[in-house]
Amino acid sequence: MNWITKFIKPKIKALFSKKSQDNKDNLWTTCECKNLIYKEDLQSNLNCCPKCGAHHKLTCAERFEIFFDNKEFEIIETPLPKDDPLNFVDSKKYTDRLKAARKKTNQDDAVSIATGKLQNTQVTVGAQDFRFIGGSFGAASGEAFIHGVQHAIENKTPFIFFSCSGGQRMMESSIALMQMTRTVLAVNELKKHNLPYIVVLTNPTTGGVTASWAMLGDILIAEPKAVVGFAGRRVIQDTVRETLPEEFQTAEYVRDHGGLDLVVERKYLRSSIGTLLSVLLKKAETQANTDAANVVTLDKSLQRSSKAL
Ligand SMILES: [Zn+2]
Repeated sequence: MNWITKFIKPKIKALFSKKSQDNKDNLWTTCECKNLIYKEDLQSNLNCCPKCGAHHKLTCAERFEIFFDNKEFEIIETPLPKDDPLNFVDSKKYTDRLKAARKKTNQDDAVSIATGKLQNTQVTVGAQDFRFIGGSFGAASGEAFIHGVQHAIENKTPFIFFSCSGGQRMMESSIALMQMTRTVLAVNELKKHNLPYIVVLTNPTTGGVTASWAMLGDILIAEPKAVVGFAGRRVIQDTVRETLPEEFQTAEYVRDHGGLDLVVERKYLRSSIGTLLSVLLKKAETQANTDAANVVTLDKSLQRSSKAL
């Protein structure tokens, strides 16, 4: 260690850390509309910009608080597999990244699962925290997702998931990719049990999650202007060598081209999903009750058609 690293560098570091600390305590924040917003105003408006309506990201706890009845919910503990099975190191050790993300989010992984009531219907809900390595989906996320599905099946509740992810976690390589198949199989189990599965795509939902569980909801809802896509805009543009429309990969564009069902503002999510569930649950109930009746009807219609022959 020379005199530069010993004396100059720590001082520079201290200067920057003080600045970032100040930012944290700041009462004001900015938005993409370049307006200065009072943080309290933003929080009281469900983290949507009061000036331009942009939907800012939420932590899992914030998401659960605004979604469940009376802000009451219970976090479900999910299994945590062994950290860093590949001893992955890029510019930093993966274990260090995990440590920092855990400290920042107060969660073991990007995915958190909770249960509670939505308009008096018991529901199981999952959410992703983007601050946890970009909401990336690894083995622990897969375990949490599957555990959530299992909880929904055991308690016969609908499963609702708020996606917010850049894709699979590259530090876990093929182990992260395997989660795509595992989660798809879990979703199939939900469908076998006639339980509604609703995905709310929030900004951003890209990469591996859109190629697996995030696009398999019975109903796909997105928050306004959320980026929804698989490969990034630049990759696609360079591949097809055409200029893409301005609104390409926004929730509204994907909806208009048949990729999802609804774009719903955050303030209406509770009421919209509540209404959808009341319809879906009734339908699931009727379907279970009429399954036997359908067999009889089918038999009769077969007899009729054979007589006609
Ligand atoms: Zn704004």
